[in-house]
Formats: sequence, C-alpha cells, structure tokens
Amino acid sequence: MPLHATKFNISWLEKKDSDGTPVKRWLKQGTKPSSFICTLCKTDELCCGNKGWQSVESHMNNKKHRDTLKLIKENTTFTIQTEPNSTQSQPSSSSSNISTVTLASQAKTMSFSDQVTRAETLWAMNTARHGYSYLSCDESAHLFQNMFPDSDIAQKFKMERAKLSYTISHGLGPFFHRNVVQDIKQCERFVLCFDEQKNHQNNKQLDLFLKYWSVQNQGVVTRYYKSILLGHAPANVIRDSIVDSFRTDGIDINRLLMIGRDNPNV
Ligand SMILES: [Zn+2]
Repeated sequence: MPLHATKFNISWLEKKDSDGTPVKRWLKQGTKPSSFICTLCKTDELCCGNKGWQSVESHMNNKKHRDTLKLIKENTTFTIQTEPNSTQSQPSSSSSNISTVTLASQAKTMSFSDQVTRAETLWAMNTARHGYSYLSCDESAHLFQNMFPDSDIAQKFKMERAKLSYTISHGLGPFFHRNVVQDIKQCERFVLCFDEQKNHQNNKQLDLFLKYWSVQNQGVVTRYYKSILLGHAPANVIRDSIVDSFRTDGIDINRLLMIGRDNPNV
C-alpha cells in the first residue's frame, strides 16, 4: 500500500448515491484505515487507498450492487436502516450509527415494530427456556438500553414481568402447542407419557408429554403437550382429562400406541 494511502473518510457516509439513497445504508469502514465494506453485498474489505471515494463510487455502480439495492427497494425495505449493527466496533463517532443490511438470512424484511417484537419474543423464549424468574426480567429493558445505546430496537424494547407472563402464556404457548398438535397429526402412532406432581402452588398438576416420530424433524421426539391442573385425581379424572384434551385438539386417540408414566404403583 502506498505511503499516503487515502483513508476512509467518515464524511463519505453523508453522501448519497446516484439514486439519492444515502450510502450509509450499506457503506461501512473496514478494519484497516484505507478500506471499506459494503454490508449489502457482504464484501470483504475493499481498498480505497489509491482512489479514495472513487473506489466506493465504482463499487456502488457495479451491476450486482445496483441490482441488490433495487431488489430491496422494491421490497419496501429500508426499515432495515434501524437494525443495529452487531459488528460495529467503533463507539461514539458519527459512523457508529451506520446500519447494516442483513437480508440474506431473512426471507422477509420486518418492519421496525416487528423487529422490536422479535427481540422481545426471543427474550421471552430465553427466559422460559432457562427458567429465569419473571421478576428478574423487570429491569432487562433498562439493561439492554444501557448495553446497546446505539440500537433503536433496544430503546423500544419493553418486557417487564406482566408482559412477559402474557407473552409466554398467551402468545408463545399457544403457538408452540399448535405446532406440536400439527406435527402429531401427521404421525402414525404416538406414546403418551404423563407425570403427576405437586407444583409450587401445592396443587396437583398432570404434565403430559408425547413421544412420536416427527415428520418435521425426521426423528423420534419427546414434546411437552400440556399440563392439567387436578384437584383430587382418581384414575378416571386423569383419563377424562386426557381424552378431553385429545378431543379438543383433534388428536385421534386410536393412534395412541402406549402410555408411559414414572410410577405405576401409586
Ligand atoms: Zn455493494
């Protein structure tokens, strides 16, 4: 590289391309001072040491870049400009707000509010999966806002205990339940496993699991099906609860191959 190589100039980010699209939607400084990256084309580090801004210009005029950009515009994208750049490493300069365009991994581009919902949903799933207490998530929004000050999504993120509880029990729960029911309807036979236990409220709870060959996963899976709260639980109550659940979900009980439980002597 020549001694006086032209360095990437952050004022370039204020420029627009020939169609009037701000270049900062895809242009990003590379790790070397004289390099840049196009986040749209997911390029390697491109050199601007010799020709400076001209190198950027010649990239943005190449056909592949223009076609990709056109495609995005036609798909009413550019809500993506609000997506935080996870690989952004320079803090607090004017270049730290550059957005990335991550298209390849997402078939559909989401609106900003959907992206916020997505973040909240992922957090709810993480909470459920690892068994965090709802209370412990009360301050997560505040934490994320401080951790990711350049993220608009983090600024809008809101998930305190009540919302978390509703999201899990009325949003994610029914979604995954439907998924399991759909999957089980495609399999030939299934095994029902149940386990009766006292929950933290000291009520008797019957947890039902289904074991079956999953067409979706192409393998045998064990899936949580549902929990039934029981008062006194003689055998016929348990049986009726199970039969009713299957009927409600349209699962054919004739395909039930066998029943498994942990302690048959009770
Ligand atoms: Zn490009």
